[in-house]
Amino acid sequence: MHDPASRHLRDLVYETLANEGRAPSMGELATKTESTPAEVRSRMQALADEHALVLNDEGDAVRMAHPFTAAPMAFVLTPVDGFDDRRWWGGCAWDSFGISAALGLDVRVETACPHCAAVISFVTGPETAPPEDLAVRFPRPAAEWWEDVVATCTKIRMFCSREHAESWTAQHAPGEGYIAPATSVWSLAQPWYGDRIRADFEPHTSEHNQALLEERGFTGDFWKLP
Ligand SMILES: [Zn+2]
Ligand SMILES: [Zn+2]
Repeated sequence: MHDPASRHLRDLVYETLANEGRAPSMGELATKTESTPAEVRSRMQALADEHALVLNDEGDAVRMAHPFTAAPMAFVLTPVDGFDDRRWWGGCAWDSFGISAALGLDVRVETACPHCAAVISFVTGPETAPPEDLAVRFPRPAAEWWEDVVATCTKIRMFCSREHAESWTAQHAPGEGYIAPATSVWSLAQPWYGDRIRADFEPHTSEHNQALLEERGFTGDFWKLP
């Protein structure tokens, strides 16, 4: 995947997000890797260029490392195990399932339906599917996700029902997007993100990810990966 120094940086980012729910600073990464801040910044930019993580606009902080996000977004994840005091922001509906998949952890997911503002709160995990009535709306085709991936995630929201996802779409973005059952997105998140923080993780090829989509019914032009 990367040279060992870049791989180490990438792993430190994921480790900190998984264990502490926050992203490490560039200075912290420099100390931990005994590198200069300039070296860290240039390696981090290279990682961002290949979509291994996402930096902020200034390029001096981690914004997202999918499925994790360093800044508050619409989903809050709390471990079901009450003695586990970690917490995470879910960047989108898909990432929320992805954090649970990557950590191998049962979590409570909390968000609000963008159409009616009802609180949506449920438990999910690698073996526990979300409630069947929930729906997830994807704002734009797969080919366009990385044009602005933070904006894409911000708009991959969960609705209390397919009807509310359809009503919201009719009001705000007629004819745009794709509405899927939350159970399908949960099923997709397991193999998509389940290996993300493993020591032997290797980025999936586009063909591999395309097959994961197809196996779960995400087919057609909308789901064609770049
Ligand atoms: Zn609703
Ligand atoms: Zn996302």
